[in-house]
Amino acid sequence: MKRALITGVTGQDGSYLAEFLLDKGYEVYGVRRRTSTPNYENCKQIKDRIRWISADLTDLASLIEAVKLSNPDEVYNLAAQSFVAASWPQPIATAELTALSVTNMLEAVRIMKPSAKFYQASSSEMFGKVVETPQKETTPFYPRSPYGAAKVYGHWITVNYRESFDMFACSGILFNHESPRRGLEFVTRKVSDAAARIKLGLQQELRMGNLDSLRDWGFAGDYVKAMWLMLQQDEPDDYVISTGEMHTVRELLETAFSYVDLDYKDYVVIDPEFVRPAEVDLLLGDCTKAKEKLGWKLEVGFRELVHMMVDEDLKRVKAEIQFNESYTVAAK
Ligand code: GDP
Repeated sequence: MKRALITGVTGQDGSYLAEFLLDKGYEVYGVRRRTSTPNYENCKQIKDRIRWISADLTDLASLIEAVKLSNPDEVYNLAAQSFVAASWPQPIATAELTALSVTNMLEAVRIMKPSAKFYQASSSEMFGKVVETPQKETTPFYPRSPYGAAKVYGHWITVNYRESFDMFACSGILFNHESPRRGLEFVTRKVSDAAARIKLGLQQELRMGNLDSLRDWGFAGDYVKAMWLMLQQDEPDDYVISTGEMHTVRELLETAFSYVDLDYKDYVVIDPEFVRPAEVDLLLGDCTKAKEKLGWKLEVGFRELVHMMVDEDLKRVKAEIQFNESYTVAAK
């Protein structure tokens, strides 16, 4: 039985990847950071099937111990401070959690299990102020946020460990990928949640930033399969994973709100608080290499993704309303 070690397993991608690997018969070890109130929401269906290890990305000794305990065949390094907007007010924490932590993880693997295959979660944010369109593996990076700059470091240190120590280290340059498990501060989930709450009468307006930016949005459940495929190849390499289609934030609003028979223009208010100090205007990925070499393919398209997210938020918000009503009745 193969063993996988996943950092960031309680996040969106980690939870989908853990489900995927468990289905394939892997023994899955999940790194969790000690917090006073742990959040297992994304992993609730598989919580008892994951072997949990307490470790911290900023603490090399704890990562060495995690690799020793799990003795992994494959390591997926997904943990990070992953929200771009938060990287300006917290640039140093972002550098520690998104950049330097990659070296910590690579060192832990190099010291304890150098034969393990290593996946680094790189990001299309590295392309930032894009120098060519569409972006592919050879496109130069031009990050536009402390987060993007930190991911560039994570990418190159992964490449460097591959070249310096002959480690099987891959960098997956994933374009935006979303799902009902996306954090509420990301634009897709903020919009799907608002469409549901406004439809059900719990919210009156939606405060947004730049509606003109263009993103290449795919489904996270499809993207974790690409991570695994990268580690099944004969040679380690770097791959862009994307849909090859882009949409504006405005189109995202239109798609989500019209799905529940609302006009987003009646509710959206532009708020400078959500406009970023430097914007990534456009991201569009060319994933020809992944399609040809990995045989990876996309299953969920943009509209289907947005509808799936709105459906799930409608379900969740309705359940919240019902819970509050029964609580009010019980309290009377
Ligand atoms: P990112 O591509 O990793 O930064 O993912 P996000 O989902 O956070 O943002 C995607 C795009 O939506 C960016 O260009 C944001 O500037 C834009 N955007 C516009 N309004 C908002 C908002 O209210 N929240 C967020 N998160 N993004 C917004």
